[in-house]
Amino acid sequence: MPSLVATTPAGPFVDEKARLAAAVEAARGEILDLSHRIHANPEPAFEEVKAATWVAEVLARHGFVVEHPAGSLGTAIRATRRGGKPGTGPRIGILAEYDALPGLGHGCGHNTMAASGVGAAIALASVVADLPGEIVFLGTPAEERGSGKQIMIDDGLFEGIDAALLYHPCDRNHVESHPLASEDVDVVFTGKQSHASSDPWMGRNALDALIALFVSVGLWRQQLRPTARVHGIIREGGTAANIIPDRTAAWFMIRADNEPEYERMRERFAVMCQAAAQATDTTVEVTFSGRASTMRNNQVLAERFRTNMAAYGIADQGDDPNAGSTDMANVSWVCPTIHPDLAIAPEGTPGHSILFRDAAATPQADETTLLAATLIAQTAYDLFADPTLVEAAWREFREKA
Ligand SMILES: [Zn+2]
Ligand SMILES: [Zn+2]
Repeated sequence: MPSLVATTPAGPFVDEKARLAAAVEAARGEILDLSHRIHANPEPAFEEVKAATWVAEVLARHGFVVEHPAGSLGTAIRATRRGGKPGTGPRIGILAEYDALPGLGHGCGHNTMAASGVGAAIALASVVADLPGEIVFLGTPAEERGSGKQIMIDDGLFEGIDAALLYHPCDRNHVESHPLASEDVDVVFTGKQSHASSDPWMGRNALDALIALFVSVGLWRQQLRPTARVHGIIREGGTAANIIPDRTAAWFMIRADNEPEYERMRERFAVMCQAAAQATDTTVEVTFSGRASTMRNNQVLAERFRTNMAAYGIADQGDDPNAGSTDMANVSWVCPTIHPDLAIAPEGTPGHSILFRDAAATPQADETTLLAATLIAQTAYDLFADPTLVEAAWREFREKA
């Protein structure tokens, strides 16, 4: 990994960017302690109670005005610090995620996102006296399930934000990404219990319905584009082999790389659920969670981040061909947004795996966390110091809308 101290930042505001890097380095212990604590205490979506508390504590210690909870989510945070320079300036959103994966822990490395977001905010706070505008830190729960950022958008927490910046850990370095539109779907079949041997004809089998649905989905895949995804797990499959199951439940996800195709998949999937119920004389309840959308990468912001990265000798490796989904994409429809990825693990390490989870607390992950904090802070600084960049980012946002 490149050293944070030895390298001189390039481009405009060289002295200020060196100050930001030094501020991150000075807070190294505090930032990494936060990353490691969150990694050791994984909490799933909407239940990030400890992580949110620890994040809020650090921000309060560094002079931020902290709202926690913020909006309708108990584990959401909004923390602000006003610039000391008179006049109007932008409100730059520094985001952080901190949810983990059920049964796996921090297999997506969100502990490094929480710590780097806090690190960027701390660094900016050290130069805030010379800046116009406002630093707006947003702790955003429930990325892995439920699109917490969409809930925060609906709560009005993104109103007035001029740009949103969030790093994600990866096995490669790349500034832009193209996540798939995605949604969680809960499916519950209801049938009728009976003895599986003495009177099976009295029952209506909810597990048969669920198996019929999985078979339909499996056959459907042949007709889907290579970029589309549909995958699921069985949450409840019955209680005993000698009882005809009267209730089964599954959790599916549907994904596509464009919104119209996603809409078609959503409709088709709902029809398959009804068909499985009809075929088995059961009833079905289908609940869609709310969507993560496709992403609009803001080129003005991406270019600034790329330049700041290059100053540390890190090249952009280009788009990731393996796309997941993220609710950060929803933010990209509200204000200029970037969601760059930086490597915390050797290339080829799969996401959502034990390997990636373990990588998220290694010295390499620690250095990347500090680097991400520095680059996010430096990119935010570019926007605070040069109002024409914010104007250009919004012009692009409006032209592409
Ligand atoms: Zn993630
Ligand atoms: Zn993930």
